[in-house]
Amino acid sequence: MKNTDLHTHSYYSDGQISPTELVRLAKKRGIKNLALTDHDSVKGVKEAINEGKKVGVRIIPGVEIRADKGEVLGYFINIKNKELNKILKIKRKRVQEGVKDWCRKLEEAGYNISFKEIQEKFPKSKNNINEFYPLYLLHKKGYGKMLEIPKKLEKEGIKKREIKEISIVKAIKLVKKAGGVPVLAHPWIGEDVLKEKNFKKYVRAGLVGIELNNGDRSPLRKRKHIKKIRRLAKKYKLILTSGSDYHGLKIVRQMPGNHELGKNNCDEKIVEKLEESRK
Ligand SMILES: [Zn+2]
Repeated sequence: MKNTDLHTHSYYSDGQISPTELVRLAKKRGIKNLALTDHDSVKGVKEAINEGKKVGVRIIPGVEIRADKGEVLGYFINIKNKELNKILKIKRKRVQEGVKDWCRKLEEAGYNISFKEIQEKFPKSKNNINEFYPLYLLHKKGYGKMLEIPKKLEKEGIKKREIKEISIVKAIKLVKKAGGVPVLAHPWIGEDVLKEKNFKKYVRAGLVGIELNNGDRSPLRKRKHIKKIRRLAKKYKLILTSGSDYHGLKIVRQMPGNHELGKNNCDEKIVEKLEESRK
């Protein structure tokens, strides 16, 4: 049965709803297994699990770790793992400092936006503000579509500060250390993630799966990517996963493809396979 969504976000990263609301919505959409995979945060997992017990949705504790060349999803992680939490905290701080700097530049260039305003408007994401927020607010204030604003800003010379990120290999190892199952997220985004030379390193580090579908469509995810992912998964015996990468309804409308919750489900057997890989 295709009743499993392995990629979702709550307001503990850049999603727009609470873990409770997310789980309730999942229930309405007939989802039986749901992974909460907030960016660099596991803060919402407990709430999701509690609500899941109430309404009858199995919650897979998850995370989406930002790395230098892409992102790594971690499933069945121990959310109390010390090293994981320590590194996630450092990462959140680094990203947030970068956003702060970016907002300052935007303000100086005359844009009606401030970092303080973001923190006030999104109190639950307060310590996990990523680049999504300034884009979202700029969009709300009439500066254009979320995906087009970055190009416009670049032309105006308003640049984001380079943020120091861990490598994909390190992110994979971190998930493993926290007892979890590492899966490469949307590998069509990012630099050279699907190049076999790089890919081999991920497999060696303990990669278990690869996301085939997160709702992205062309121009982001092209037919050639799908072909390559299938080929690599076969060659390295990796589990193919999918999910919606749901961030909330307003965001669904901003992203190309279909990121509606439950629209890119995978078979429940995938959950078993991921779990089995831990043994
Ligand atoms: Zn995501």
